[in-house]
Amino acid sequence: MDHKTPRIVIVPSPGISHLIPLVEFAKRFVSLHHEFYVTFIVPTLGPPSNTMKSIFEAVAPTIDSIVLPQVNLEDLPPHIPAAVQIQLTVTHSLSSLRNVLKSLISTSNLVALVADLFASIAHDVANEFYISPFIFFPSSAMGLSFCLYFPKMDETLTCNFGELQEPVKIPGCIPIHGSDLPNPVQDRSSEAYKSFLRLSKRLHLADGIVVNSFMDMEPDVIKALQEEDGGTGNPPIYPVGPIIQNGSSSVVDGSECLKWLDNQPPKSVVYVSFGSGGTLSFDQVNELALGLELSGQRFLWAVRAPDNKSANAGYLSVQNEDPLNFLPLGFVERTKGKGQGLVVPNWAPQVEVLSHNSTGGFLTHCGWNSTLESVMHGVPLIAWPLFAEQKMNAVMLCDGLKVALRPKVNEKGLVEKEEVGKVVKDLLESEEGERIRNRMKDIKDAATNVLSENGSSTNALSELALRWKNMRLA
Ligand code: UDP
Repeated sequence: MDHKTPRIVIVPSPGISHLIPLVEFAKRFVSLHHEFYVTFIVPTLGPPSNTMKSIFEAVAPTIDSIVLPQVNLEDLPPHIPAAVQIQLTVTHSLSSLRNVLKSLISTSNLVALVADLFASIAHDVANEFYISPFIFFPSSAMGLSFCLYFPKMDETLTCNFGELQEPVKIPGCIPIHGSDLPNPVQDRSSEAYKSFLRLSKRLHLADGIVVNSFMDMEPDVIKALQEEDGGTGNPPIYPVGPIIQNGSSSVVDGSECLKWLDNQPPKSVVYVSFGSGGTLSFDQVNELALGLELSGQRFLWAVRAPDNKSANAGYLSVQNEDPLNFLPLGFVERTKGKGQGLVVPNWAPQVEVLSHNSTGGFLTHCGWNSTLESVMHGVPLIAWPLFAEQKMNAVMLCDGLKVALRPKVNEKGLVEKEEVGKVVKDLLESEEGERIRNRMKDIKDAATNVLSENGSSTNALSELALRWKNMRLA
C-alpha cells in the first residue's frame, strides 16, 4: 500500500447490531471499489465480545480494525438509557481516537470518516484533521427523514409528541402518530430527548449520509430527502441498502435450529426473535408462549430471560439466567414433544433461519437489520416493536408497505395469548397472510435488483466512491 491509497475510517458505536451493517457496508464497498482501504476504529464498552472478534475475522485484506481502549460502565453516570450509554462511550473514547488518527494520517491518505449515527461526536476529531465527516444511518430512510426534521419539531411544538391530536407529517413519509415516534423523543424533559436532539442537529453538519435502505422500499421518502438535498441544507443522501450480513456472525452454534427446520414442511414455521437485546416482561413472555402454542402453528423461538423494567435489557449487558426457566410449566416439553416448536436460549442463526425454506413468517421487534434480513429473504412479518425507532418501522411495514400484521395490545400493555394465536395463524394461513407474503416477495425481488450491476444502490455507492476519490485529488 502506498501513502496515496485512499483510506476511509469507520467509527461504529458499541453494540453488535450497529457493527454488523457497517462491516458489511465496508465489505461491499471495497469489493466494488478496489482502490480503497478501510480502517475500523472501534470504541467499546467493556471488553470486546467474541462475537465482535468473529465479525472482524475473514473480512477483506483491505479492511482492518483497531479496537480502542475499553470504556467501563463505572466510568459512566449510573442509570442512563442504553442510547445515552452508547454515545457517552464514544465521547469517552475521543482522545484515543485522536491518537490513532494522528498516527494513521502520517502513513495514509485519509479521505473520509464515516461514523455510525450514535458515534457522530467522532466528527469533532475528524474536523481537527480536515477529514470529511460522513454518517452511516443504520435504519430506515423514514427514520432519517424524522431525524432531519426533528429539530424543526422541537422548535415549533411545545407538548410531548404523544399528546399530539393530529398525526405527524414527516417529509415523504406516511403520517404517523406522535406516540409511534422513537422512544427517546417521547419525554421532552429527559436526557435521552436532549441527546437525540444533539444527534439530529449533528446530521445536518455531515458532508453526506449513507442510509441502509433502497429506492423501491421507500421511494417517496428517499425522493423527498434527495429533493431537499441542497434546498433546505440536507447533506447529500446515499441509499445503498439493503446491506445485511451474509451468514451468521455469531460464535453460538446454531446447527440445532437448522436441523430442526430441515424436518419441517415448506413455509410452515414462524421464527420469533426480538433482536440482539430485546426483552419482554415476565407476563408477556408467558402470554407469548401460550399464544404460540394456541396458534397450532410451528414456531422457532430464540427466547431471552424476561425483564420487567426494560425492553432492551440484553442489548449491552449479558443476562446470566437460563431463559427457559421463565417459560410456562411444561411448555418446552409439550411443544417439542408434539413437534410444534423449538425454543433456543438467547440466540438463533437468524440469517440462515430466514433463508430456510421452512420459515414462513417472522415475529420481530422490527429492528432495522431484522427487517432488511426478512425483506432480502421474502419472509412476511408480525410487527412487535419494543424500543428505539421500532414503532416507526412497524407503522411503515404495516400501514405503508403492508408486509406485516401488528398484534393488538390491551390496556395493560400486554398482547394476550389469544391475540398472539390469531395473528400467527393469520400470517401463515389466511388470505391476508397470502397477500402480505406476495407483497414481501415483490420487495425481495426489488431488493435483489437494486444491488445488481446497474441497480440504484450500486449506483449510489459508485457516486460515493467518486466523491471520495475526488477528495483525494483536491
Ligand atoms: N441476531 C441473530 N440472532 C438472534 C438475534 C439477532 O443473528 O437470535 C442478529 C440479526 O440477524 C440482526 C441483529 O442481530 O442482524 C439484530 O439487529 P436489529 O437491528 O434487528 O435489532 P437490534 O439488535 O439492534 O435491536
